[in-house]
Amino acid sequence: MKEHKFFRQIVTCAVILSVPFFSFTKEEDPYAGKRKEMVKRQLKARDIRDESVLEVMGKVPRHLFVEPGLRNQAYRDHPLPIDEGQTISQPYIVALMTQNLKLKKGEKVLEVGTGSGYQAAVLAHLTDKVYSVEIREKLSKKAVKTLKKLNYNQVKVKWGDGYFGWEEFAPFDAIIVTCAANHVPPSLLKQLKEGGRLIIPLGNPLYFQTLTLITKIEGKPEVRHVLDVRFVPMVGEAQKK
Ligand code: SAH
Repeated sequence: MKEHKFFRQIVTCAVILSVPFFSFTKEEDPYAGKRKEMVKRQLKARDIRDESVLEVMGKVPRHLFVEPGLRNQAYRDHPLPIDEGQTISQPYIVALMTQNLKLKKGEKVLEVGTGSGYQAAVLAHLTDKVYSVEIREKLSKKAVKTLKKLNYNQVKVKWGDGYFGWEEFAPFDAIIVTCAANHVPPSLLKQLKEGGRLIIPLGNPLYFQTLTLITKIEGKPEVRHVLDVRFVPMVGEAQKK
């Protein structure tokens, strides 16, 4: 009889203990399950093999980079609108571009097209030297706010035309361009280190492009085509050429 009571107490205790723990984890990250599924079905099931990229994609709260009304779509296999007619790329494209950059801890990376700040946050898990340029003032301000709120303090964001790179912090080990251009901005090639990687959607900015990986070998660009894609156009200086 005594023993029975003892066990009942243990059970009651366990139930009480597990309730707050359960509600805490649920409240902290209600999208953890969806994010895990996204990594499995959209990334692993395709060709994302880099373990560190898979791990990061499973960590960054993508739903907090989109409007509250779109949060339940944040882990779906498609791009999503952000302000000013721009888009945040599909998770697979973010992972694929990141994988191609082959970033190592301590390397310096430049992003052209901060948008929501999501891609920058992904990069920030791989290195603490992330620089991102956004041409639209409203988006750049909003991204700074989001990144700060989520403690991505290692990301530096500048409002300006990324066509010219970010001279002050050059050279970069890697450059990622998340808007489409019909040529590689010369400043970006110049600001890329020897052996550095640059990934950019190249083609007709208003139609389709090819995700292109450029590696700087002995000062010259070595080019590899990765995938056909569709990105929003690079505006500013790029459109004058
Ligand atoms: N990487 C972003 C999505 C990019 S959408 C994310 O993770 O959310 C492309 C972004 O490029 C848009 O925000 C657009 O305003 C920006 N852009 C277009 N032309 C640019 C330029 N010349 N310099 C910097 N940013 C530019």
